[in-house]
Parts: sequence; structure tokens; C-alpha cells
Amino acid sequence: MKEPPLQRATDRIAELYRRYVLPTYAPPSIALVRGEGALVWDAEGREYLDFLAGIAVSVLGHAHPALVRAIQQQAGRLIHCSNLYYNEHQGELARELAGRSMGGACFFCNSGAEANEALIKLARLWGSKSGGRWRIVTMRNSFHGRTLATLTATGQAKVQRGFEPLPDGFDYAEFNDLDSVRSAITDRTAAVLVEAVQGEGGVVPASSGFLAGLRRLCTETGVLLLMDEVQCGMGRTGRWFGWQHYGIEPDAFSLAKGLGGGFPIGAIVVAPGLAEVFQPGQHASTFGGTPLACAAARAVLETIERDRLLDNAAVRGAQLMDGLRHLQKSVPAFVEVRGMGLMVGLVLDRPSKPFETRLRELGLLALSTADRVVRFLPPLIVSERDVARALEIVAAAALDL
Ligand SMILES: *Cc1c(COP(=O)(O)O)cnc(C)c1O
Repeated sequence: MKEPPLQRATDRIAELYRRYVLPTYAPPSIALVRGEGALVWDAEGREYLDFLAGIAVSVLGHAHPALVRAIQQQAGRLIHCSNLYYNEHQGELARELAGRSMGGACFFCNSGAEANEALIKLARLWGSKSGGRWRIVTMRNSFHGRTLATLTATGQAKVQRGFEPLPDGFDYAEFNDLDSVRSAITDRTAAVLVEAVQGEGGVVPASSGFLAGLRRLCTETGVLLLMDEVQCGMGRTGRWFGWQHYGIEPDAFSLAKGLGGGFPIGAIVVAPGLAEVFQPGQHASTFGGTPLACAAARAVLETIERDRLLDNAAVRGAQLMDGLRHLQKSVPAFVEVRGMGLMVGLVLDRPSKPFETRLRELGLLALSTADRVVRFLPPLIVSERDVARALEIVAAAALDL
């Protein structure tokens, strides 16, 4: 009898996806099976420096002992109890988030899209009590999620095509163009929703004039300023929240990605003046803010604080951007380096997907976005050596450009 052909573990895994998982993603033939710090390993034992962190999620890197311990301990105590009862961790987590931002209060959910849905519902409910305001102005090239409302909020036709009719009530303006937002606001507008640093849009920070002007404009016109901090929040930019670089405060903002360090959890934080908008029965989430999710997020906040990871994000981000700018001098295909803290974009003069592939072949995970941008989102625990190594790989990959 003939032996069946030996199959690599990766091929077995890929075959299952091909047969049984809907093809909403198109990953390369790599299965990640283990991680530690800023390193991950695939099913064939290959090592990668992870400068993607599960898309800005694994802020403490992989297998961080504080996060592992918090999850293990809480899992053995109480995983879930619904929001029909209090749990030990949700109120503490809410206090910690509110205390680091505008004060106020939180609602917990499970993802970025769900957090932005909560912001949208907050604005609608508030607007319904404020003279029938219900429309929301969002930015072109933004990204807010994949539910029907949040993909409509997302100012990119490519995520909307085929899903029409889209929910009504969204108007679009140009990011970093205050006049454009001003002309999009009407007496039906309840809120403006904006990212401090557009992530999927290509790592584009808001200009300081734009956000300061937007805050004034919203206050003058009686419109809420909502910020989507799902990607740029949780220390990624070197401060807890991206808007904290701009000397302004939003009326409410959303969080998810990095909040649980990989454990799914989303949240909105609402300024004190809006804390009474939602009343019992007006919004809910079965899994929102479980003891397990909140214990994980508390461990993330505590570790960022204790290990001074905001400072690390600022310092290592500067190292990464300086290093890329230095390479830029000798690589004509590198058009621009931009970003904030550990949210860094390298703009190429050509589509960036092949460069992302080359980086991966050389052992560095990064993410191509907005066609020509390579995005680096390392964990906040990244070391000087990790960044130096990543820069060596970028330099090596650039030889092929
Ligand atoms: C990823 C992202 C979202 C969507 O988050 P999900 O958890 O995938 O629903 C929303 N807004 C921004 C800015 C994001 O980067």
C-alpha cells in the first residue's frame, strides 16, 4: 500500500480554511501558532518579528505573564454572569478609563464596530432630545467597522459596494479640512465622528489645527464631537488616547483593539454631561464587559502604567520613524514616513502589498494599507533591539525595490 503524501501542518490548516471558512480574508499560507513578546512562530517553526500585533491589538505583545495570569485566574473564578448582575471588574475598569480621559462613564461591548454603533446610537438618542438632530458627519478615508451602520460611517466606497441600501443619516467631509466639515454640518447634524490618526486610511494623523478647530466648531454648532480611538487609543500613540495630543476633549470616544490586549472587549467613554443619555433598556450587549474581559483589560491598563509603556511607545516610535527616515534618504521608493508613537506608516511610490510580502519572507510582519502604505503597529513592549532588527529587515527588503 502506498503511503499518503506527507503534508505540512500549514497545508492541513489551509485546506480546512479553504473548505470550511468563508473567504472574507485572503491570508498568505502561514499559520501562527505561538508567540512571546514581540516574536511569533508559525506552524513550520519559522520566527517573525511581529510589527503588526494582530492589527494594533496585542499591546503587551504575546503571552505577557500579567495578562495570562489575569485571564487564568478570572477564568477559574467567574467567566460570565450577564449584565443583569454587577461583576467585580466592570466598575473598576470603567473608573480607570474615565479617570484617564474626561471623567464620565462607560458602556462595554466586544468590538470596535460595536463600540462605534454605541456612539452612533448615543448621538441619535441625544439628538432626538435636542430638537431632532440625527445625522452624523464622518470623514472620507476613515474606517469605523463592518456592521451596516459603521460601514456607512466609513467614508470609503469599497467597503460599502454591494450592501446598498445603506442606512440613512451619514454625511461625509474631508479629513484635515475644517471648511469641509463646516459645510457638511446642518441643523439636523447630531455629531461629527473622527479618528485622531486615521489607521486604515493610511496612518494619517489629524493636524492640530483641524482637531482644535473641530472642537470649537462642534461646540459652536451644538454638535457632539465623537472620536474613534479603536486603533489609535490604548497607548499606541504614546499617550493613552490619540486626542490627548491635541489639547482637546471629545464628548465621547470608542475603544476596542488594544483594550483587552487580545481578549475581545470594546467600550465607549462618555463625558459626564452625556452620562444620562442611555437609560435602562435603550442599549445592551450580552457579552459586554464580562468579568473575564474586564479582568483582562484591567491587567492591560495596569501593565501599561507600571511598565511605563506610554513612554516606551513614544521613544521606540521615534526610533522607528527616525530609522525609516534615515533609510528614506537612500531609497527613492520611500516617499514619506508618518505617524505618531508606535503607529507608523511608510508611504511607497508604488503598491505596498509586494513589499509587505517581502518583509514577511525576511521575518517581519507588517501590514499594507491604503494601497501604498506599509503600516507598522508593534506591541507597546517592543525593545530597542526589536526596532533595530526591524529596521535592518526593512533595509534588506528595500534592496529589491
Ligand atoms: C479596526 C477598527 C474598527 C473596527 O473594529 P472591529 O473590532 O474590527 O469591529 C473601527 N474603527 C477603527 C479606527 C479601527 O481601526
